[in-house]
Amino acid sequence: MPIRVRSLEVIDTSILSPHLKRITLHGKDLADFPTDAESGYVKALFHPQGLPVVDADTAKSAVKRSYTVRAFRAETRELDIDFVLHGDLGPASAWARAACVGDVLAIAGPGPTKLADADADWFAFFGDLSALPAIAVNLQRLPEDALGYAFLEVPSKDDCVDLEKPPGVRVEWIINAQPDIYSDELFQCLEKLQWLDGAPYIWVAGEFELMRSARKTLKSLKSAVHGKYVSSYWKIGATQEGLQKAKALEEVKSALRMS
Ligand SMILES: Cc1cc2nc3c(=O)[nH]c(=O)nc-3n(C[C@H](O)[C@H](O)[C@H](O)COP(=O)(O)OP(=O)(O)OC[C@H]3O[C@@H](n4cnc5c(N)ncnc54)[C@H](O)[C@@H]3O)c2cc1C
Repeated sequence: MPIRVRSLEVIDTSILSPHLKRITLHGKDLADFPTDAESGYVKALFHPQGLPVVDADTAKSAVKRSYTVRAFRAETRELDIDFVLHGDLGPASAWARAACVGDVLAIAGPGPTKLADADADWFAFFGDLSALPAIAVNLQRLPEDALGYAFLEVPSKDDCVDLEKPPGVRVEWIINAQPDIYSDELFQCLEKLQWLDGAPYIWVAGEFELMRSARKTLKSLKSAVHGKYVSSYWKIGATQEGLQKAKALEEVKSALRMS
């Protein structure tokens, strides 16, 4: 099936923190973009050399990078995406660092939302900067009386951005100045999580190793949790294509363990 490509223009950019840049995209192709897609993801399309794809003809051979829909304003057809600035090795990060008003970006999607089930008794979110946009949407949408935690790993103190959240959800920041070296501090927060009454929704996303460790831990807690979302958003030393291969291998290993 041909990919539905939406060709958009950058109409605003803002530096949220030293490693996070919000890019606001606009275009008539957003006329039928779903209004309930926040926390879901789109695929940003790039030529392998790093230049953005601008039309459907070249989309098939494009390099695809997943990005969370941080906000969508249907009335003005504006889509906010928060890009982690992790260097110029990847086409998406390199594009985002340099992006300015008038630049173009093609996207496909959106995919399904990543929202915690609001019926859980309490909530615990774990994520690094790549998952911060999705966690931010989740926190914004929790009921006002929600209880729980959000543990966030960021590269510097200045990346601890303000988050809109219910008062009963405590945010804890973990600083890891070298995200390209795996630190298990975020995972340890999950291991040592102080449980509240009832069954929680546990939401985990970030580097591949975090996902792998978290899955093992959550397996043993199966009956105690209301629901869970565990996903890897990137992998140290691998492009997103490498991440997909590692994820597929992990699925096979997990299926073999179960058989
Ligand atoms: C569902 C989903 C939603 C996502 N939402 C967001 C989002 O809203 N914002 C966001 O910034 N990212 C998000 N990501 C992660 C993003 O897709 C990856 O970080 C992607 O690899 C970036 O592409 P790239 O072209 O910059 O780097 P790639 O070409 O994929 O990788 C190049 C190099 O950069 C390294 N790298 C990649 N990502 C990071 C990182 N975050 N920190 C440090 N080093 C990194 C790789 O290890 C590799 O060595 C999401 C991923 C998924 C699956």
